Amino acid sequence: MTEFTTPSDVARESLKRLAMDRVAPTPDNYRAYYHRIAGTRNDDSFPAQTFRSIAAELPRSSPAQQRFARRFDEAIGKQSWITLRAALTELAVATETQDIAWAPLILQIIEQMDRHHASLTKARKKESLKHVLDGSSSTAPILYGRLNKLLQHWHAGPSDDAPEGATGTDTDAPPATGEPAAETAPAPELAHALDELFRRGVGALLADTPALQSRAAAFGERFNPWPARIDQPLLLADLHELILKLEWSGEDQSGIRRALIALLQLLIDNISKLVIDDQWLSGQLSVVSEAFSQPLDIRVLDEVERRLRDVIDQQGRLKQELTDAQLRLKQMLAGFVDRLADMSHSAGSFHDSLERSSARIAQAKDIGELSNVIEEMLRDTRIAQEDARRSRDDLTSLQQQVERANVEISKLQNELQHTSELVRHDALTGALNRKGIDEALEREIARAQRRGTPLCIGLLDIDNFKRINDTHGHHAGDAALQHLAEIIRANLRPQDSLGRYGGEEFVIVLPDTDAENAVATLTRLQRALTSRYFLAEGQKLLITFSAGVARLDADESAATAIDRADKAMYRAKRAGKNRVMMA
Ligand code: GH3
Ligand code: MG
Ligand code: MG
Repeated sequence: MTEFTTPSDVARESLKRLAMDRVAPTPDNYRAYYHRIAGTRNDDSFPAQTFRSIAAELPRSSPAQQRFARRFDEAIGKQSWITLRAALTELAVATETQDIAWAPLILQIIEQMDRHHASLTKARKKESLKHVLDGSSSTAPILYGRLNKLLQHWHAGPSDDAPEGATGTDTDAPPATGEPAAETAPAPELAHALDELFRRGVGALLADTPALQSRAAAFGERFNPWPARIDQPLLLADLHELILKLEWSGEDQSGIRRALIALLQLLIDNISKLVIDDQWLSGQLSVVSEAFSQPLDIRVLDEVERRLRDVIDQQGRLKQELTDAQLRLKQMLAGFVDRLADMSHSAGSFHDSLERSSARIAQAKDIGELSNVIEEMLRDTRIAQEDARRSRDDLTSLQQQVERANVEISKLQNELQHTSELVRHDALTGALNRKGIDEALEREIARAQRRGTPLCIGLLDIDNFKRINDTHGHHAGDAALQHLAEIIRANLRPQDSLGRYGGEEFVIVLPDTDAENAVATLTRLQRALTSRYFLAEGQKLLITFSAGVARLDADESAATAIDRADKAMYRAKRAGKNRVMMA
């Protein structure tokens, strides 16, 4: 274990040792030192520059070449070995297609089409062939594979023109003898279960292909009730055909799923690039992107949907307030402009009256006339002064209103930016907050009850936490909480949830976990915590916790289970801390 825990510690130390060893600080030397000190391997740096020069020389004339080049570019862009590996594998598979022996395959199809089969009509064969050719995701190798399998299936069936067993079958199917069914008919429960297997079990997987779904159901019905006589060759032929179609349907479905995920990721990538200024969207985007970067899990998707819904509701409200505030600001600015126009208008008319007065002064014949003009001028000047003062007051108040509106707008924008993170997570540790953990519990309890699977709840409280605060300060206490949450998260399964229940108390929800495994999990977390020191002011601190575990009883509420876990946790404290007790 290295003593330098953060990347910047390692970086600093690397530079120091390069200098001490008088080694030139080239990128390669620095990288070598960095990995030696961090105890990591130096083989994961991505030679983007070299790959880019290779990419520049890739041929890009045919669609397949363009596809490969695009994938290669994408891998370089993301510096992703995984994408690169996928692109190369795809390329290797694609080169295979050039060697596909289509001619013999087509010949065999024609031959088998004309051959008389005991249990396969020509119409049936045509239908199967059409089904394969219509296949939505059929690239050349897939099509070749499927046609070959279809041929094997036809080949395996007994024909009228060949002696039985001489058809070159290479399947493990028992020889089709056309004998009646075994004398001992199976129990009705078995017949019923077989029917259910095809109707419900297989049927559930075929919701998107109703034709195949009813075909599977019809197949299951044959066994329920168990027929007096079974035509084995016919049954086998139908079974093989069903197997093939199920296999293709499965391939199609996972192909569609893969394509959809890739599409979604592309969209997310693209949106993230477009909305750099709209920070408030980044929370949602990262949640979605995270959910699709791991194997699909309905639980994770549920969670993402809930989180998004809540955030979207809140943001909808905030956006409305923001639009209103912006509208008010616009109206104020319009008032501002009106006022300015009034001002220049009254200044203009004052100017006009001054000109008029000066003309009258020039033409004045006596002192009486002059004093009239002066009186008028004084009146006009007073009015103009009055106007100017009013305008100034109006403008000042307008300016204050605009400033207030601006403050409100930026406050709303800030709030909008933070909604993404705030809704369900504790700001300090990133663990779920009370609301988040309540929802996770509600969801998992419903799931456990529906499926009859065990669910455990762990409650843990840091030992002697007050001492850390008192000795090293509140900041160190906060950092210790973050450290704990980080280590716990790194050691839990994706389907487990961690929530901050109170100051230094955390709840862990463990679905599909029995009591024994839950205790083992909490003990494993304790071990992980002792193997990674927490540094406070450069001093290594050992953080421990005491925990109680409760297995949810049938029909028990989350609150009572947590209460039991809490009591067990207190027993762990009384028994000397740093241990796990079962409720
Ligand atoms: P025990 O082993 O019995 O659990 O002892 P303890 O000291 O951990 O327990 P106690 O409940 O007496 O103290 C918990 C302390 O946790 C008190 C409180 O100041 C501190 N605390 C609670 N929330 C936070 C927080 O968010 N940050 C920091 N730094 N301290 C917190
Ligand atoms: Mg406590
Ligand atoms: Mg404590």
